[in-house]
Amino acid sequence: MIVLSLNAGSSSLKYKRIDTRDHTVLDVGAIERIGAPGAPATHDEAFALIPELDHVDAAGHRVVHGGSEFSASVLIDDAVEARIEALIPLAPLHNPVNLAVIRAGRRRLPHVPHVAVFDTAFHTGVSAAAYTYGLPFELADRWKIRRYGFHGTSHRYVASRFPGRRKLITLHLGNGCSAAAILDGHSVDTTMGMTPLEGLMMGTRPGDLDPGVLLRLMDWEGFDTAALDRILNRESGLLGLSGLSNDMRELEAQAAAGHPRAELAISVFCHRIRRAIGSLYAVLNGADVLAFTGGIGENSPEIRSRVCLEMDALGIVLDADANAGVRGREARISPPGAPTEVWVMPTNEELLVALDAARVAHHKVSGQVRDNPSERSPAGGR
Ligand code: ADP
Repeated sequence: MIVLSLNAGSSSLKYKRIDTRDHTVLDVGAIERIGAPGAPATHDEAFALIPELDHVDAAGHRVVHGGSEFSASVLIDDAVEARIEALIPLAPLHNPVNLAVIRAGRRRLPHVPHVAVFDTAFHTGVSAAAYTYGLPFELADRWKIRRYGFHGTSHRYVASRFPGRRKLITLHLGNGCSAAAILDGHSVDTTMGMTPLEGLMMGTRPGDLDPGVLLRLMDWEGFDTAALDRILNRESGLLGLSGLSNDMRELEAQAAAGHPRAELAISVFCHRIRRAIGSLYAVLNGADVLAFTGGIGENSPEIRSRVCLEMDALGIVLDADANAGVRGREARISPPGAPTEVWVMPTNEELLVALDAARVAHHKVSGQVRDNPSERSPAGGR
């Protein structure tokens, strides 16, 4: 099957055309600056610019928030569209854009199946103990406030590369960062929460933060929601701490040259990851595999070695020579026989979106979609 794998950002539309039989990428591209002068005005116009639309058998749409309802990828119909729309309050920046591309796709490619693949879906099986915040129950219930987790497609792809290994800790370290604990192929806990702000420190987001800090800032600085949103989503993390950049390459270079705040940003970044590994290790009662992925995880021997330093009590040890040589390719970086294998595993979310779309579309063609429980989306808070 030829599947168009789609990933929409607020002003961009990335696509890959993939032959799912042999995983060949036939075409890859991005339409950028949507809404800017001289560029397509809308995501619908951008969609029309994707080449070879006539040669597509199915489309897979990455959707950021599926709430607690969507525990697997689903065939998109009007009802699914309406449910994605109803989830906009939980992801006000992302779901409207995802929805715009879904609508464009269904309008411009009406005869091919469209499939939604949710960032949250992989985590819908975590226990109530792991997903519940300690807030007044009725208040949380009214607003669907709970931990959902994100980067599910990436964590699931990486997990799929370790068949037969029971306990995995996966670290997705890109601009956004999250870690997940995976048991027998299922996510049992993850560091992101109701929104992608919780957990690890990231390029421009602080990660875990005492909520009391926000209360004090509202008093001291008179910040409103928009100001807090800007600080938490765009001005914090590696960028805010270093005052230089959210690009880890730049920070590594500056830290090596003696820039104290670049060094501080990197040390906080790594410390938070180490704490997350410890807590997920406790949740799993061990780890067979620790896997690094995402732009930083795949490409930075320096960060990997700082994260894994003095973790031998958890069975985590690096082979320094193996680690130093690995950039952007799959490799084991722990010595043979170490209790926890440490790996670099490049993620491939577009491929997983395409494979899911092909699978769901195939079920639709053979009329099985309603009969296969794994394709159903149970309602309610699992
Ligand atoms: P996104 O989350 O936007 O998909 P990526 O997964 O591409 O982002 O990760 C981007 C991050 O990866 C940036 O901080 C970038 O500096 C970092 N990165 C990429 N290559 C390297 C490298 N060789 N060394 C260190 N960091 C790197």
